[in-house]
Amino acid sequence: HRARAAITRHIRLVEDFPSPGIAFKDLTPVLADPDGLDAVVAALAEYCAGADLIAGIDARGFLVGGAIARELGVGVVAVRKGGKLPPPVIGVDYQLEYGSARLEVPAAGITLRGRSVAVVDDVLATGGTLIATGKLLAEAGARVHGLSVIMELDGMGGREAVAAGLGADVPVHN
Ligand code: IMP
Repeated sequence: HRARAAITRHIRLVEDFPSPGIAFKDLTPVLADPDGLDAVVAALAEYCAGADLIAGIDARGFLVGGAIARELGVGVVAVRKGGKLPPPVIGVDYQLEYGSARLEVPAAGITLRGRSVAVVDDVLATGGTLIATGKLLAEAGARVHGLSVIMELDGMGGREAVAAGLGADVPVHN
C-alpha cells in the first residue's frame, strides 16, 4: 500500500551502524516527507483504532504516536528510556544483546490502569523493546490493544519472540 511505497522510496540504509555488520534502517527521510508521514500515520492509525490511548516508544515512536493519537481523537503517552521521566515511574529492565536497558512510564498524573493502550514504534527487530513495553504496560494495569511498527525486520524472529513473550493474542502489525 501507500505506506510501503513511501518506505521503499525514502528509507536510508546505513551500513555498520550501530555496530559492524549491522545495516541500520533509517526511517527519518520517510517521516520527513509529507506524503510519507501521512501514509505511515494513516496505516498505523488503522491498527490502533479502538484503543483509548497511544503509547509511543522512545524516540521515533514519539514522532508517529502523537499524530496517530490526534487522528483517532485519543491521547498519547511517551514510553521513555530510563531516567528521563520525573518520579514516580513504573519501569522495566530488559536485556539487550550487549548489556541491559530500561523503559519507564509515569505512575502519576495519568491513569494507565484499565486503559486499552496501542503501542507504536518505528522498527521491530528482535522484539525485545516491544516485549518490555508490553510487560511494563501490563504491570501498570493497562491492556495492550496491539503493537504496531512502521517496519518489521525479516529474519530476526521478532514477531515470534513477541508472541512467546506477551502471548499470541497481542496483535503485531506492520
Ligand atoms: P528490538 O528491541 O531488537 O526489536 O529493536 C527495536 C528497537 O530498536 C526499536 O526501538 C527501534 O527504534 C530500534 N532499532 C533496531 N533496529 C533498528 C533499525 O534498523 N532501524 C531503526 N531502529 C532500529
